[in-house]
Amino acid sequence: MRRIEIVKKEFEQKLEQEFPFMRREEVTDEQWEKGNYTRYNAYGCEGIIEGWYSVIRGLCAEITEAFEKRSMKPEIEIHLVKEKFGILRFYWSMPDKRPDLIIDFLGSGQSLNIASEKDDISQEIREIVRKWEEKSGTVCYTCGEAGELRKDLSWISTMCDTCYKDLLEVKEALRKRKEEPESYNEKMKTELPEISKKADTTRHLRLRQEDIDNIGDQEEYVILKQIEDIDWGIFADTALKNILVEPENRYFTSVNGALFSKYMTEFYAYPPKKEDASFDVPDDVRKIWHDAFKNARNLVQISIPDSVGFIGNGAFEGCLSLVGIDLPKAWFNERKRVFYNCPSLEYINVTTEYKTFFYGNHYNSTDGVLFKGPIEYTRYINREEKEERTEHTLMRYPEAKTGESYVIPHGITHILEYAFSGQRYLKSITLPSTVTDIGEGAFEGCREDLQLICCEGSYAHSFALEHKFSHSITD
Ligand SMILES: [Zn+2]
Repeated sequence: MRRIEIVKKEFEQKLEQEFPFMRREEVTDEQWEKGNYTRYNAYGCEGIIEGWYSVIRGLCAEITEAFEKRSMKPEIEIHLVKEKFGILRFYWSMPDKRPDLIIDFLGSGQSLNIASEKDDISQEIREIVRKWEEKSGTVCYTCGEAGELRKDLSWISTMCDTCYKDLLEVKEALRKRKEEPESYNEKMKTELPEISKKADTTRHLRLRQEDIDNIGDQEEYVILKQIEDIDWGIFADTALKNILVEPENRYFTSVNGALFSKYMTEFYAYPPKKEDASFDVPDDVRKIWHDAFKNARNLVQISIPDSVGFIGNGAFEGCLSLVGIDLPKAWFNERKRVFYNCPSLEYINVTTEYKTFFYGNHYNSTDGVLFKGPIEYTRYINREEKEERTEHTLMRYPEAKTGESYVIPHGITHILEYAFSGQRYLKSITLPSTVTDIGEGAFEGCREDLQLICCEGSYAHSFALEHKFSHSITD
């Protein structure tokens, strides 16, 4: 979405080419589920922008040198690379000793005291890392010139005098803009280019909620060419029927009043009061971001192409007229607010077969009800003990699906947050003994006469007792 992310990606690619130990491994589906990936593999260099690229390259080059002067192959594991309080943090460790590999590499057949070599090199790398972390506190994180730690900003950062002065000016201009909201759009047009010039050398220019709060009942909004970044969901509570983008904008584009990334691989926002009853997400869109269709109250039908591999949190929340949806077998990020507050929704169908390289393929549906799994994984209780587990989740039962009773299939282990919320037909739900977790608000806003039917002594039974649900017991 953002200039800063594009540049970051390019930098990380260069880094990986130059230094093999900086190569990031793809995080597997199971690791996501379990959360046991390394931060570096998942997020790369976090919060680091252009000015510090030289710092990280310098650090990696010295690490490489330390290995090479011992005729060793440069191999360390990277856990975390980020900026914190204006200083670089670089966490790493030695991989497990792999003497065969090292001897192979030397090819000399000589015996080596590997342990001491390793201890020795660990010590040297520790010093290299410490040195460059310290150095980062003297390098402007924006432009790479000599700088110092600035502690009087809303975030502590290292900046040179020029970037620091520019930033203060930008902040001042933005503050003025906020305090004098009248003729807001006019002001944006005249003042922003000036601010933006400055912002280019400091931080990227970002459209935030507070920038949108002033637009009142406006039906159309134009995103100016300088905008490089837009917060999620900021249009969701507006009266907009049209979101437009100045053609010179390098990061965003608008088609039929909806907001996309420049090359239309990502979908960002649908204007909530647009009157059309249907919308086709164009082919080749890969991501539908958080809150993208939030409060799109007039849409009865949304069609989603197979290319979509990601759907963000709350993407369809508050789609009051949406009757049904066909989803590709995509990888979702959604863990909460899945089709939350969609009172007309009768069915969710997962239709297409797995086509993309995305992680998904776990989603499926039966009779219009959305499920995830079963997913099998190994859970480590401690270093030695582990257990095999299966997670099979009921994600969402549509609010307007008719029928007075529903039997949750045997084998379901989890009921997601708000899974049945707002359901207005069900008078009874049968919960199998396999259920081990029921998320927050799972039965919120259901009928008052709803009965849970559960097995004696099961998790569902104690849940019903604890939450004072009307329930009955079955075998
Ligand atoms: Zn600078």
